[in-house]
Amino acid sequence: MQTAAALRHAQRILVITGAGLSADSGLPTYRGVGGLYNGTTVDGLPIEMALSGPMLRRDPALCWKYIAELGKACLGAQPNAAHYAIAQLQRIKPDCWVLTQNVDGYHRAAGSPPERLIEIHGQLSPLFCQSCGAVDPQLSEHLQRPLPPLCKKCQGILRPPVVLFQEMLPERAMETLHEEMAKGFDAVLTIGTTASFPYIHEPVLRARVAGGFTAEINPQRTDHSAAMDVFLGCRALEVMELLISHI
Ligand SMILES: [Zn+2]
Repeated sequence: MQTAAALRHAQRILVITGAGLSADSGLPTYRGVGGLYNGTTVDGLPIEMALSGPMLRRDPALCWKYIAELGKACLGAQPNAAHYAIAQLQRIKPDCWVLTQNVDGYHRAAGSPPERLIEIHGQLSPLFCQSCGAVDPQLSEHLQRPLPPLCKKCQGILRPPVVLFQEMLPERAMETLHEEMAKGFDAVLTIGTTASFPYIHEPVLRARVAGGFTAEINPQRTDHSAAMDVFLGCRALEVMELLISHI
């Protein structure tokens, strides 16, 4: 396998993961929550509006209805073999980083080291109070109670450290990404992401310009497929274990 050989020779590797990876664990994507019908939630809103920063301020109970749906889905599933294979790659390659769009925390659960993990859309837990900043680790307990969840100390409204629609990407995560991109990557592997954000395009382009290796694993071709050295048209679950076993 060309991809296994390229990863074997690479030192600095960036693995970019998206919803397709966790879909293999049975998780819905952002756009798959809310009983969507023709792109609209049961509340008659596009999910991009229901799950947005402005909605959390205007109608916390409504926004939380959809955060809770994501939360229940994440707590009800587990990392899959591909998450574990990526963590194994990071053990073999101490300069292998993971950049994920997923908020489920499955990379950490599978053993990816937090110091080489960039969660660009944040994570669903622990919750924190928007009024006093107190941290509350009881996501699953709160999901059993009336929403929105309230702070034990000041009764302020809690929220997850996740990037909702119309919110900024976390500064620290972006800084880390730029620092690591500046050092360069020998290989960039994208898995299960169809989005075309600059934070995906840029590392891929930079690796190519610098003569590095790029590959994509996705059931369907995407906007970046044509720019990759290798396109593997399958699910991560089907290839990652095999791929890592050859490195
Ligand atoms: Zn509080």
